[in-house]
Amino acid sequence: MTTTSKTLRTPADLCARGLVPPERQPELDAVAASYAVALPEPLAQLIDPNDPHDPIARQFIPDPVELEHQAGESADPIGDDAWSPVDGIVHRYPDRVLFKLTHICAVYCRFCFRREMVGPGKAVALSSEALQRALDYIRAHSEVWEVIVTGGDPLVLSLRRLRSVMKMLAEIEHVKVVRIHTRLPVADPMRVTPALVRSIKMKTKPTYVAVHVNHPRELTAPARAACARLADSGIPLLAQTVLLAGVNDTPDIMSALMRALVECRIKPYYLHHADLAPGTGHLRTSITTGQELLRSIRGRLSGLCQPTYVLDIPGGHGKSPIGASYIERAGSNGSAHYIVKDFSGRRHRYPPSAL
Ligand code: SF4
Repeated sequence: MTTTSKTLRTPADLCARGLVPPERQPELDAVAASYAVALPEPLAQLIDPNDPHDPIARQFIPDPVELEHQAGESADPIGDDAWSPVDGIVHRYPDRVLFKLTHICAVYCRFCFRREMVGPGKAVALSSEALQRALDYIRAHSEVWEVIVTGGDPLVLSLRRLRSVMKMLAEIEHVKVVRIHTRLPVADPMRVTPALVRSIKMKTKPTYVAVHVNHPRELTAPARAACARLADSGIPLLAQTVLLAGVNDTPDIMSALMRALVECRIKPYYLHHADLAPGTGHLRTSITTGQELLRSIRGRLSGLCQPTYVLDIPGGHGKSPIGASYIERAGSNGSAHYIVKDFSGRRHRYPPSAL
């Protein structure tokens, strides 16, 4: 099995591949000097260079507006640093930690909330000493029930390193679940080999994999096969999607994506409101847009296809669901009741008026 695709790593590569006109290279070079570029061939193939609004290009081809930073944007938009007791660990919620193994990804997304930390030039992986300190932290905190292995993209690490980390996590008695966050199954599906799948599967505890997918076109036949290799091995799959202007902010695209995920045995988990990462304003929608989108897919799609729309509150205050509410209190004292909206927006009293 061929396992690694060619990757375009510079604006010159993007021009040579015909994805960007050569006259635009200097302005893209200026962006690439600040924010990493990598586009594996399986994703490059999905781009229509003749479409100025191509939703795949919008996610991965640098854009000069990335150098225009807006008020409120921050290098650490979700406040990881405030909750990092040792390198590689973010301990924001009592029962779980983020375990950031690497700053490298197979593809660099233009909206990445960790864009100031990921990319070449950053440490490829935690040093052996930092890794041990991070594991010691998890061992010492018996309240940690779940470890979320993230990065960067942890699945770009060597199989030897992945096997060894998973083994050490499996040996920590109070850790009951390990969840891996990755974009590899869509970015470079052939790298999700049977050997990689074996390296992340633990014998006695569940490994969950959360796959980052933003557009139905990303779920190509090879990407679906990669997800099937994970699912067939018994690894439950979740999806994380970032709501992005001009990529997936219409009911038709979001519906197609959520259905395609479920057809691939991937349960839509979070729809993230795009974070306030520097230079990403052109890709953010309003929260109202997100709520209307969610309301529209609630009316037309199976419950299996419904993600939770969440905002990571800037400053490190964690995630909160921000989908529209379907219920409100009404009346008072003896006549107190609720008004509940159905999927088509009609309002109903609960409990119903006395019969
Ligand atoms: S794969 Fe994830 S961590 Fe890597 S650039 Fe994309 S959003 Fe950021």
